[in-house]
Amino acid sequence: MADSVSSVVLQGSDASPGVVVGRAIILDRRRTNTPHAHIEATEIDHEIDRLQKAVQKSLKQIRNLRTRVESTHGGEHIQILEAHELMLQDDMLVQQAIEHIAEKNINAEWALQKALESLKEFFNELDSEYFKERRSDVEFVGDHILRNLAEQESSSLMDLIDQARGDSILVSHSLSPAEAIQLHGTTIVGFCTVAGTKTAHTSIVARSLEIPSVVGVVGLHESIGAGDTLLLDGKSGEIIVHPTKKQIDTRKRRNRRLQKITDRLRADGLGVESKTTDGFQVQLSSNLDLIEELPSINSHGAHGVGLFRTEYLYLNRQTLPTEDEQFEAYSQVLKSNPSAPVTIRTLDIGGDKLDVPSAVRNQLKPFFGLRAIRYCLREKKIFRTQLTALMRASVHGRLRILIPFITDVTEIRQVKAIIQEIRSELASRHVPFADDVELGAMIEIPSAACIADLLVREVDFVSVGTNDLIQYTLAISRESTDIQYLYHPLHPAVLRMLRWISDAAHNEGIRLTMCGEMAAQPMYSVVLLGFRFNELSMSPPAVPIVREIIKRSDLRSARDLVNGLFQFSTYGEVERHVQTYMLYHFRDLQSLLGGEPIDD
Ligand code: PEP
Ligand code: MG
Repeated sequence: MADSVSSVVLQGSDASPGVVVGRAIILDRRRTNTPHAHIEATEIDHEIDRLQKAVQKSLKQIRNLRTRVESTHGGEHIQILEAHELMLQDDMLVQQAIEHIAEKNINAEWALQKALESLKEFFNELDSEYFKERRSDVEFVGDHILRNLAEQESSSLMDLIDQARGDSILVSHSLSPAEAIQLHGTTIVGFCTVAGTKTAHTSIVARSLEIPSVVGVVGLHESIGAGDTLLLDGKSGEIIVHPTKKQIDTRKRRNRRLQKITDRLRADGLGVESKTTDGFQVQLSSNLDLIEELPSINSHGAHGVGLFRTEYLYLNRQTLPTEDEQFEAYSQVLKSNPSAPVTIRTLDIGGDKLDVPSAVRNQLKPFFGLRAIRYCLREKKIFRTQLTALMRASVHGRLRILIPFITDVTEIRQVKAIIQEIRSELASRHVPFADDVELGAMIEIPSAACIADLLVREVDFVSVGTNDLIQYTLAISRESTDIQYLYHPLHPAVLRMLRWISDAAHNEGIRLTMCGEMAAQPMYSVVLLGFRFNELSMSPPAVPIVREIIKRSDLRSARDLVNGLFQFSTYGEVERHVQTYMLYHFRDLQSLLGGEPIDD
């Protein structure tokens, strides 16, 4: 804190609540500059010398990093760094680049880039997944040398985590979900990014790991230098550079006040059913990204798991998880509370979750392409491994399998046929599995919402994924900061979809659940009650406030509220009406519903 330097307040989106103060550490995400230039014969020796020095420097940096990592992380990270060291000493790379300099009269950067490309090509053509995966190592090593040629300090996230001393706040252009996970349990107490939105997976991970964060901050890099003291307020979405003591005290006091109300609601709600005053039960379950979050489910009073995003088992690693490894993970989740239902979603990679083994990554397409169930139905071996592990684990609790990104009934039928084959196989091998495993479809694409009446006949439950459903319905990317002002869960189009899905599920008599972030927003709890959701799944810290609202509501009034919303033509009108209703009925919870003004 520095009262002598004037503070600067930067505004972003409130990705994950909490107030933290720390020194800025900056993850440099600028692309390495690769100038292309032809050189004179007299410059050849100089360019070769530059290249060799950059290679030696990279080698030294990676060796140092390996020594540091050996004492902290260990395991697979070491093997990767060893592979990078070997590559830096390999003639196929360095010698080839030197030859390009001498024979083609080009500068070191250009020559290195050419050598990198042919090395990647070489690995690509080998008929082995192991070697195909080496392409990402080539990229890493190449980037390292290029940065040293440009005499930029290279800083990987792992470097920064290692170097951080005392409470630190990470400042970066962007952060992937897999990287956000790496911050868990380190001295990096919060992060802020230029890119990102509240519903992007990185923010979801931050909320579930309770890492305060602010995303979508304009002017972040322009205003913050390494080592600056920052105050990050994840509730108001503000970053204060060089905060005053008064600003720190005010924010911390406000945060403590909110925490006190949340703690009271949490303590009061433990073991209490979330039922309305007229007896309608809404199960409040937990979204789970990492096994490490399991204890948080019970401590916040969630009942069971409504969404286990299994793709996180595939992230931050070089090889695919084996059937046994997955069996262990699913069994652990099921055993953690055998009487509570556990919904495990099959692999949903693609979009922003691309930090997966490169054998998989190279085929995936972001967002609209080959991802989730589309990928699984093409790569049946990977899918069967997962389904087999799930069926084997089913004996340990009450398993529900959820299929993401459904667009058509055919996909569900194909999944059912595969599960049937797996059952027969397991039975013939005398491997036990449960008979009552339920199958559900995620409704997160408009086409699935439109055919809700057809889908409900094929499955035991449906789960509405509002994060994707809203982005695809309103044509606004979850990742795009610029158009977040268009993100409106109460848009009349979304309301009409929810009514259609709800009627379809209730007419068929199947369970209606929601696992998108809308379920975690207390401002919408009565609306969702009015749509008769049987289960709302959310990150555990959201459970106490949502339970409190459900407990104090009655289904009849909630249904009246919802029916009344269909008279409005714009999302603004709907939002104002719902806000007025909520603030009138839950005035005492106002600070948790939508924030309160701050007086600095
Ligand atoms: C959703 O789309 O609402 C959802 C829960 O899935 P994910 O956030 O993992 O895409
Ligand atoms: Mg989704």
